[in-house]
Amino acid sequence: MSKKTPVAVYPGSFDPLHLGHVDIVRRALTIFPNVVVAVLENTDKLPLFSPAQRVELIRDTFAGMSGVEATSFSGLLVDFMRQRQARIILRGMRAVSDFEYEFQIALMNRRLWVEAEHVFLTPNEEYTYLSSRVIREVWRLGGDVTGLVPEPVNRALKRLPR
Ligand code: ADP
Repeated sequence: MSKKTPVAVYPGSFDPLHLGHVDIVRRALTIFPNVVVAVLENTDKLPLFSPAQRVELIRDTFAGMSGVEATSFSGLLVDFMRQRQARIILRGMRAVSDFEYEFQIALMNRRLWVEAEHVFLTPNEEYTYLSSRVIREVWRLGGDVTGLVPEPVNRALKRLPR
């Protein structure tokens, strides 16, 4: 296999997907023909949405936009990447505060799989303050997150008991 692959994998919790994530995917599509949004099936005991629901919401959000695929994975990201024959890991960089963590994980991924390459994109500045954690907190306290999350996520949140 050529080491150049047209697929970038965008891993994360996406609980829930918000417009900062969407912005990163849109930007990535100007560089890579295919972006796989990969939901980490982590052990968070109180998720808002199950991994399967998150995948569905990502699919609904990007329906009609070619080149975007949503799936979930468990275990090591690099194992998932190998299996998908993809070596580009896409991550968002909101601010300097993201840097240390991202740098640490990137170096670990590369230690685990020397072919892993990371691409960091920055969102439009209007999204830099967004995180899934903040969305969850605002929603749990009864706040309106319209305009911060894609419409399919907003609709799903409105149906969810708080
Ligand atoms: P969050 O940090 O929102 O809880 P995730 O763990 O799902 O979310 O994040 C997945 C990826 O998306 C990470 O690389 C993270 O830095 C990036 N990301 C999260 N929020 C934003 C944002 N507002 N703008 C750009 N990238 C973001």
